Amino acid sequence: MSLSGKTAVVTGSTSGIGLAIARALAAEGADVVINSFSDTKADHAIAEEIGKAFSVNARYIQADMSKGDQCRKLIEDAGACDILVNNAGIQHVAPIDEFPVEKWDAIIAINMSSAFHTTAAALPMMRKAGWGRVINVASAHGLRASPYKSAYVTAKHGILGMTKTVALETAKESITANAICPGYVLTPLVEAQIPDTAKEYNMSEDRVIEEVILLKQPSKQFATVEQIGGIATFLCSPAADQITGTSISVDGGWTAA
Ligand code: NAD
Repeated sequence: MSLSGKTAVVTGSTSGIGLAIARALAAEGADVVINSFSDTKADHAIAEEIGKAFSVNARYIQADMSKGDQCRKLIEDAGACDILVNNAGIQHVAPIDEFPVEKWDAIIAINMSSAFHTTAAALPMMRKAGWGRVINVASAHGLRASPYKSAYVTAKHGILGMTKTVALETAKESITANAICPGYVLTPLVEAQIPDTAKEYNMSEDRVIEEVILLKQPSKQFATVEQIGGIATFLCSPAADQITGTSISVDGGWTAA
């Protein structure tokens, strides 16, 4: 498969899963737009490195995915968007009655509403190009709940609903919309929640990894960012032309239970 001539916009792609997806798509020849809200030298250097490593056009575009107008502008500034990967996401862990309102609003905006805005802006470009892929990075938490993650679980369940709706609205076109539902992947997002979870459960951080985090994952292994990148490239391949409106779990058996 070659994705040469296609442009992929990956939101939240300076780290973790988004970065691995961008690298995997670039490795197949896609031009990539790297995004985050921080606009640092390091952010720009990531795009430069990917461009050189895979001989593709890789650009960094700053946009804050908590703001609807910036989500839409990201797609406009990209100029083309054949593959849209809605990946940006944050987490906060707290009981619902203590959950900070600003954290709730930020998680719903970044993890869910951003995909509404980027998809709305990207679909006309995909229609014009006659081909498109919407890939939403959801989570096992789109299919299952965990305590203390009310906003995240709500946003991830919501994005699975949005995925199905977009699939139905594009079903007769060469456009698909699917979600990837990773279990736990050891990225900065997960590393950051270990101390909070340790506090909630009154446990050491090592015990949290073993007894809380990987407890849910029957394989007892973290999924890797490269595995998630591989699923994203698969969803862009001709083998996936008739896969739409569904989700692929990469969770070591978590949601089989
Ligand atoms: P990460 O913290 O490593 O990366 C998150 C990325 O999002 C970063 O590039 C960050 O700059 C960007 N970002 C955050 N807020 C943003 C904003 N307002 N605007 C633009 N960019 C923003 O996290 P990750 O683990 O790679 O998570 C990526 C996605 O995968 C998230 O949607 C997350 O919910 C999902 N996910 C992660 C796991 C896991 O175990 N790591 C499991 C399931 C789903």
